[in-house]
Amino acid sequence: MTDTATLDIQPGRLFIGGEWQDAASGSTFDTINPATAEPLTQVAEAGAEDVDRAVRAAREAFESDAWQNLDARKRGKLLYAIADRLEERADELAALETMDNGKPVREARMIDIKESIDCFRYYAGWADKIAGDVIPVPGPYLNYTRREPVGVCGAIIPWNYPLQMAAWKVAPAIACGNTVVLKPAEQTPLTALELARAASDAGLPAGVLNVIPGFGESAGGALVNHPDVDKIAFTGSTAIGKLIQRQAADSLKKVSLELGGKSPNIVLDDADIEAAVRGASMAIFYNSGQACTAGSRLLVHEKIRDEFVEKLLKRAAGFVPGDPMNPKTRLGPLVSEEQLDRVLGYIEKGKQEGAELLLGGDRVEVGGKRGYFLNPTVFGNVTPRMTIACEEIFGPVLAVQTFSDMDEAIQIGNASEYGLAAAVWTRDVRKAHHVAHKLRAGTVWINTYHNLDTASPFGGYKQSGYGRELGRYALDLYTQVKSVWVNLA
Ligand code: NAP
Ligand code: MG
Repeated sequence: MTDTATLDIQPGRLFIGGEWQDAASGSTFDTINPATAEPLTQVAEAGAEDVDRAVRAAREAFESDAWQNLDARKRGKLLYAIADRLEERADELAALETMDNGKPVREARMIDIKESIDCFRYYAGWADKIAGDVIPVPGPYLNYTRREPVGVCGAIIPWNYPLQMAAWKVAPAIACGNTVVLKPAEQTPLTALELARAASDAGLPAGVLNVIPGFGESAGGALVNHPDVDKIAFTGSTAIGKLIQRQAADSLKKVSLELGGKSPNIVLDDADIEAAVRGASMAIFYNSGQACTAGSRLLVHEKIRDEFVEKLLKRAAGFVPGDPMNPKTRLGPLVSEEQLDRVLGYIEKGKQEGAELLLGGDRVEVGGKRGYFLNPTVFGNVTPRMTIACEEIFGPVLAVQTFSDMDEAIQIGNASEYGLAAAVWTRDVRKAHHVAHKLRAGTVWINTYHNLDTASPFGGYKQSGYGRELGRYALDLYTQVKSVWVNLA
C-alpha cells in the first residue's frame, strides 16, 4: 500500500471571500483513505454560520464592479488560467483524488483530472460567446435579449468524481458571470479545496468561488435554504434531489438535478460479442460501479446468453481489487464503509430474492489493510422486479437478465424510474438507431459505453433529474434571459 506520506496533505480549511478560514464553530472532520480505512487529514466543517458568510461573500463579489464590469474575454482568461494551474499539478491532484476517493490513480489522472482541466478550457472559450438575439417585433421597436448570469449559485456535489463534478458546475457558472458556493461531498473534500487554491493562484477575484466542506444536512441544507442563493446545482442521489427540490420551493430558487441511474446495457443477438463483453464489464466495473451511468442492468438476448456470460465472467475475474495508487490497478475500493455496507446489503438481497451469484459478492483484503474492497460481482437469473434490477446499487455489481426480441429489450430497458443512460450493441445500423430512439434516457451509447465529453450534453430523463450539464446546454442553467424593448418612434 502506498505510503500516504508521499503527499504532504495539509488540514483543509474553508475558502471564503478569497481567504482560508476555520469554521465558526471550530469543528473539523476526518477524511478517510478508503484503501486503508485510515484518516488522511482533518477538514474544517462548515455550519450554517459559515454558509451564510460564504453566501454573503459570493453576493458581494457578484455585485462588485470588478466582476460586473469585467470583460467576458477576461473571464475566459481567468478560466484558462485555472485550467493551467490544475494542469501544472495534474499528477499530484490525481494522487490526492485517489487517496481521498479510492479510484485507480491511472483513471484519476487520465479521466478525472484531465476532464476537469478540459472543462475549464471549454467554458473559457464560451465566456465571450454568450450572446442574446435581436427579435423581429411589430411596430417601431427594437427588441433584443441579453443572457445575464443567474447570481449566486450553490453547487452540491457527490464523491464519485470529486474534482470533475466541481468543474462541471464551477466552470460554466463562472463563464456565465455568476459566483459560486461549492459544497463538496464529506467523503472527498480535498480536491475541491485544491480547485479553490488554483482559482486563487489564477487571480480569480475574491468571493467568486467559495468552497465550504461539510455535511449534507447542515452545510448543504443551509445552502439550499439560504434566501440569498439564486440557484442550486445538485448531483447525487434521487432521494436528496427530491428533498432539495422541495426545500428550494420556499424561495423559488432555480434548481438543476443530476441524479441516479439504473442504466440498461442491451446486447442484441447480432452484436460483436467480444466487443460487447469488453464494453459490458467496463460499463459496470469502471470506478467500482460508483458511476451514475454505470451499466448495472445487462440485458442479453437469450440466444447468446450462455456464451456471453461465460466470456463476461472470465473478463470480470480480471478486475482484481488492488492498491489504487498502483498504476496497473483497474479496480479500487468503494468510497466508504457505509457505501461498502450498502452494496453488501444489496448483494444479500439479490441472493435472498433468488438471483444466482455467478461471481464475487465478497469483501476482500488488499495489502493487509481493512480498506473497503469488494470483488467484482455478477448475478445471473435476475428478473425485472428483483431489488438488484431496480435500485441503484452504486457498486461493482452486475445484474444479468435476458430477453427474446428487440421490443422486449426496449420494454425492460425502459421499465425503470430512472433514465440517465443506456446502451445497445448490434451490427445492424437500423436496429441500433431504432433502439437508441426508443430508450428513454439522456445518453444512449451504440456499440460503446461511458463516453463523455465536455462538449456533449449530459443529464437525465424521468427520476434521473432535469437540466443538461456540459456543452452549450449548460449555459442555459447558468444564465437567465432578459428582453429589452426600445422605442424607435
Ligand atoms: P447524497 O446524499 O445524495 O450526496 C450528494 C451530495 O448532497 C453530498 O454533497 C451530500 O453531502 C449532499 N447532501 C446530502 N444531504 C443533503 C441535504 N439534506 N441537503 C443538501 N445537501 C445534501 O449521496 P450519498 O449519500 O453520498 O450516496 C448515497 C447514494 O446516492 C449512493 O449509494 C448512490 O446510489 C447515490 N449517488 C448517486 C450519485 C450520482 O452521481 N447520481 C452520486 C453519489 C451518490 P454529504 O457528503 O455530507 O452527504
Ligand atoms: Mg475520503
